[in-house]
Amino acid sequence: MSTETPAVFRLKASMQTYEWGKKGSSSLVSQLARGAVREDFELEEETSYAELWMGTHQNGPAHLWSEPETSLAGLITSSPQSYLGAKLTTGQFNEPGKFPHSTQVPFIFKILSIAKALPLQAHPDKALAEDLHAKDSLQFVDDNHKPEIAVALKDGFRGFVGFKEMDNIVESLQSVPELAEAIDNEDAIRRFLQEKSKESLKDVFSALLSAKEDLVKRCVGRLIERIDRQGANAVGGDESASTLVRTLNDQYPSDVGVLAAPFFMNLVTLNRGEAIYIGADEVHAYLEGDIIECMAVSDNVLNAAFVPPDSRNTSTFVNSLTYTSRPPSHWSLPQTPYKLSRTGQTTAYDPPLEEFTVLHTQLSQSRANFTASATKDASMSTTGIVSKGDFLTLDQGAQTVKDWNGKEVLRGAAGPTIGIVTRGMVECREEGGDFATVPLGFGGVVFVKPGTEVSVQAVQGEAEMWWATCAE
Ligand SMILES: [Zn+2]
Repeated sequence: MSTETPAVFRLKASMQTYEWGKKGSSSLVSQLARGAVREDFELEEETSYAELWMGTHQNGPAHLWSEPETSLAGLITSSPQSYLGAKLTTGQFNEPGKFPHSTQVPFIFKILSIAKALPLQAHPDKALAEDLHAKDSLQFVDDNHKPEIAVALKDGFRGFVGFKEMDNIVESLQSVPELAEAIDNEDAIRRFLQEKSKESLKDVFSALLSAKEDLVKRCVGRLIERIDRQGANAVGGDESASTLVRTLNDQYPSDVGVLAAPFFMNLVTLNRGEAIYIGADEVHAYLEGDIIECMAVSDNVLNAAFVPPDSRNTSTFVNSLTYTSRPPSHWSLPQTPYKLSRTGQTTAYDPPLEEFTVLHTQLSQSRANFTASATKDASMSTTGIVSKGDFLTLDQGAQTVKDWNGKEVLRGAAGPTIGIVTRGMVECREEGGDFATVPLGFGGVVFVKPGTEVSVQAVQGEAEMWWATCAE
């Protein structure tokens, strides 16, 4: 069917029910499921709906909405160049041979709805992934790296990312005796206090993560008791650390992560539209919130805490980390104008890699809104701000937005593009193409072939889409 497939067509996404996901109807993933996965989706309030996957990875492959038995991967295999673009299939990227999976979309585009801490983890770089995959292809299904980005869909996303600045870690080691006791290696601690370096940090962190379970249990127990008695004073007056220790211990009682995350790692809070980029071998553990996540094609993960002991890869994990010790802003990823947008209603999150860019399109039928709300909200008509409370601010396009009236046109990208509607309803179509318009409600997912100029029109009021694309 490859030759007759329209340039824009609807996909059926995959869902993952990992136990850290939000439950039942409180999960954004379950709310999107009827549009994204299947129309007759029946919600179970006790199920944790953690992730929605939009891509070709074997652990959560997308299928065609109109032909649920046909996988997107299968369709691509029938004609890789028309679905992935010549640039990908002929390896014309900066790094030759970068895309081993020439029949795969080069990214996995996801939505996560997080109720409690994910495993404390890092994703191996390419060389380590190849090595791990060769040794254990069951656990490490991919030989590829997995840099990832996260964009908050709502205010208040929280996650642990990277190591705190060294002085902060020193402070915790000196003010929390239970932490030093669990590390149980005076020499390593002394060396770290004397000379703060990546090597000495690695020794201390490794000792903590490798500590015996019963020792960790005793130390966590004593620390919780002290926090109950002394409040934030128990951890050097750090209110957020004392709250985090309690929260994490409620979620994963006596887990070594209860000590490792709050005292060694940065806690990052993101408001809607703010993003972070996590490169290969960077330690992280998301804690709560709803996010867009996008990553290179890989499902490889090294876990060291917040998972049962037999699911940990502690020694490989501690040997692989970068030990980057910086303030949280080091990991932030800015939102920039998207250069293939014709109407300026789409912005980009463009990490320093070739596999993907994440896009955000915010549509408003401004003419209708102007009439309805002109007297109520004068700022809207003069500034072109798309809607109150949104992070996206277009200060130069008021007239343009009005003229386009809830429509965006994206010029053709070099590689594949996948989009999902997270607010309102849109009509999606190939500009100048003969194929019918694809109507998409809340949760609707589309695939756009490379080189296709695609338009999205809000059906009424406001609409929002998120995309992942391999643009250049
Ligand atoms: Zn991760």
